[in-house]
Amino acid sequence: MLTDAPPRNSNRAGFLESDRIKTLDLPQDGRLASITESIELAMKAGVSKDVRRVCAEFLEVVSEFYKVPACGIGVLAARPLRVRENWSTELFGDYTPETKLVRVWMRTAVRKEVTSFGTFLSTLCHEFCHHLDFQRFGFSDSWHTRGFYERAAALYHCARGTPPKKLFWLPTWGGRWRIDWPRTNRTVDRPIEISDG
Ligand SMILES: [Zn+2]
Repeated sequence: MLTDAPPRNSNRAGFLESDRIKTLDLPQDGRLASITESIELAMKAGVSKDVRRVCAEFLEVVSEFYKVPACGIGVLAARPLRVRENWSTELFGDYTPETKLVRVWMRTAVRKEVTSFGTFLSTLCHEFCHHLDFQRFGFSDSWHTRGFYERAAALYHCARGTPPKKLFWLPTWGGRWRIDWPRTNRTVDRPIEISDG
């Protein structure tokens, strides 16, 4: 994961704000985790219209939770030729703000391999976070900032019922950051120890 470079124009303030917001309120009622299980089952069966139906349910629940307008969903069997997002960052989905449409695909373009469930769910959360950027945060664009990736990861772990992971970042060129995976994966989440003296 690599962040976008900060824009130099008037969008810069929005970009920095997106970079700063590293947390997201998360639904705690367990509803997401059960829908996530249905997505996994539907993916195993491999029928895209069933996958689409449960993904639509997932997006409905999260849109309602964040009080944003609903977004559409398209589940494609394979990656289309034209995608909105950058090839290097978005292999598995895209989002169009004008139509509020999330698209995810079940197969990769190059080798036609079935996308793993983890990647698929993470893509769904990622694309929904683009929707949130416009509809909840009111940004003029939806950049891949550190904050964006943190928010998408928080939603993913909530949906999957896995403990959130602290992400570590390394600076690269042009004001961009990439995740330090060895450090991120090495860090085991420990319960907070409460000492009362
Ligand atoms: Zn994206």
